[in-house]
Amino acid sequence: MTSSDVARHTIYQSLGGIKTCSTSQSSKEEKDDTPRCLNITGHVGFESLPDQLVNRSIQQGFCFNILCVGETGIGKSTLIDTLFNTNFDDLESSHFHPNVRLKAQTYELQESSVRLKLTIVNTVGFGDQINKEASYQPIVDYIDAQFEAYLQEELKIKRSLFNYHDSRIHACLYFISPTGHSLKTLDLLTMKSLDSKVNIIPVIAKADTISKTELQKFKIKLMSELVSNGVQIYQFPTDDETISQINSSMNGHLPFAVVGSMEEVKLGNKMVKARQYPWGIVQVENENHCDFVKLREMLICTNMEDLREQTHTRHYELYRRCKLEEMGFKDVSPENKPVRSLENIQRFVGLFLGQEEQRS
Ligand code: GDP
Repeated sequence: MTSSDVARHTIYQSLGGIKTCSTSQSSKEEKDDTPRCLNITGHVGFESLPDQLVNRSIQQGFCFNILCVGETGIGKSTLIDTLFNTNFDDLESSHFHPNVRLKAQTYELQESSVRLKLTIVNTVGFGDQINKEASYQPIVDYIDAQFEAYLQEELKIKRSLFNYHDSRIHACLYFISPTGHSLKTLDLLTMKSLDSKVNIIPVIAKADTISKTELQKFKIKLMSELVSNGVQIYQFPTDDETISQINSSMNGHLPFAVVGSMEEVKLGNKMVKARQYPWGIVQVENENHCDFVKLREMLICTNMEDLREQTHTRHYELYRRCKLEEMGFKDVSPENKPVRSLENIQRFVGLFLGQEEQRS
């Protein structure tokens, strides 16, 4: 499937409700919401609606934001370079940062006619602090700040969401050390504090440093630790029948054990990405050697749109709801009657003016 086929498929899915049906509304009193199905006898033309949407989306371009969480030197930059087959020129970071800093960089990539504005956010200095909270709190704050910026744009009178650079994180690649033991407390604390805010995809980094049998046991151990600690990781969706089989089988391979490398090695008569050792080579794109291809397929080819959608409909929606409730907005009154938005705003302004009066 090409990228524009994927876009077309997604749009067809979301337009699944298009039918030749109408809602009968004979009078205000007699309101029947069941649509009446009609046959159309000739070509009308609205069947081109998905194509119109595909063309518009292609013109507009897409944006995708990845957050890489993992300690310094675990292989984050190498994996991102390998995933997108380019050199993002990220400078090597040191282990001696006093604080965790989130470094975001945006790039424009193009594959055939599809333009992608890709933002990579790196956690510089993660895991180098003695205080664990000092490691994950800046990440939580960063994710919330991107939701807040989007909310502020939505609340503006003159909104420009059409050309707004959406910086909300769509996928968080969480890099786990290939220790073969168990998750570190920092990993559990961090994933637990992020799981309601972002789609977490855990990966076992540098999987060439762990043996095959140890890796299988490690994967089982990690998944059971995540479950027993109530950490929700992103599940590839299985409700769309065209991808449900591949997605449910891939859910069974999580966390993906990955190897990254931009080094090209000659194998037979072709060049492959690999890591070379005195005893042999580890091929990045060989599924018998690691799960790199599985990760790339799932993250980029199959579920990029779902990750974007989940970010908006699940994680951002939760942030927005909590934020508006915190500000005193309600959908229903204490008497269980619907509250109109205008009443909410009037009440909110009233509260604000009351506070101002108290202050003066
Ligand atoms: P970052 O600080 O997390 O961005 O880590 P880097 O991507 O800069 O990698 C740090 C070091 O680990 C480099 O020497 C890489 O060549 C090496 N490295 C990266 N990926 C792998 C891998 O999959 N396996 C092994 N063995 N080494 C890797």
